[in-house]
Amino acid sequence: MNLLRPNIAAMQGYVPGFQPPDIASWIKLNTNENSYPPSPKVVEAILAELGTDGARLHTYPSASSQQLREVAGELYGFEPSWIIMANGSDEVLNNLIRAFAAEGEEIGYVHPSYSYYATLAEVQGARVRTYGLTDDFRIAGFPERYEGKIFFLTTPNAPLGPAFPVEYIEELAQRCAGMLVLDETYADFAEGTALELVKKYDNVVVTRTLSKSYALAGMRLGLAIARPEVIAALDKIRDHYNLDRLAQAACVAALLDQEYLRECCLKIRETREWFSAELRAMGYNVIPSQGNYVFAAPPDRNGKRVYEGLFERKILVRYFSDPILCHGLRISIGTQHEMEKTLAAMKEIG
Ligand SMILES: *Cc1c(COP(=O)(O)O)cnc(C)c1O
Repeated sequence: MNLLRPNIAAMQGYVPGFQPPDIASWIKLNTNENSYPPSPKVVEAILAELGTDGARLHTYPSASSQQLREVAGELYGFEPSWIIMANGSDEVLNNLIRAFAAEGEEIGYVHPSYSYYATLAEVQGARVRTYGLTDDFRIAGFPERYEGKIFFLTTPNAPLGPAFPVEYIEELAQRCAGMLVLDETYADFAEGTALELVKKYDNVVVTRTLSKSYALAGMRLGLAIARPEVIAALDKIRDHYNLDRLAQAACVAALLDQEYLRECCLKIRETREWFSAELRAMGYNVIPSQGNYVFAAPPDRNGKRVYEGLFERKILVRYFSDPILCHGLRISIGTQHEMEKTLAAMKEIG
């Protein structure tokens, strides 16, 4: 089809983690979803919004998601004008590129982290530069002054697990001539956050999602926190009805039930620490993680062998063929019961 833009014709497209059709018969630990259900209040709120006859669905939802911005603002300590809601944080990552990086301009990110930034940049026709990590978990060769339009920093890092210290992120904010986007997808599982930097540096944006910690990947809910000028720009770009009615109702209920979130994240963190210790006792190398996943390498450094052994037993984890990641696996932390079964299977596989 030679009518296509050349960059679209040439691009591969992002390949999301495998979602098996017979999902209920698997232990699914490949996409960092939450194995626990969302707060019961979320289900109540969705049913209330739906009503008995779905009579509210014939009208458009709030275009501004104003109530959500207020609730999120209250939670994170920002005025609503500093917050934008998104149809999954992926939507706002896309709109950040559209707002800041024109065709031919550069965006950067750490490899390994979230390669979807590159896909979004390709669509835009922006150039992509990646930086590796040093042994002490800093960005290798990051320039004194980074001139790209956006640098995306996934913190905690996925798939590896550690978070970058706030002092280091602050230094990066000073060294970026363009925007520094902190993808804090996994912050609710972590010890700290760099959210305070949004108030201090006008080029810092933080993105969050309800997909992982709030167990709402299926509802597509994310948000960004930034200066009002940045939020106003993102507001111009987004689909005007980007969040549907049910998603908005779910979002308010989820954000208001912080006690449920805390308990759920605590359980996952406890299981993560237990599972990491058990794997280390088996001779695995496990990177200390701040997320709801661990990156673990077997003694023979053959990630594929263990992936296949688990797959045969209907346990799905994430294997990356990339040479810097193929020695290990990223394993999402499910319920304690799921992780006990996974551990037993890994012992069998050896
Ligand atoms: C899961 C994930 C996202 C996407 O989140 P959604 O809100 O579901 O779009 C973004 N960044 C990272 C690093 C993720 O792991």
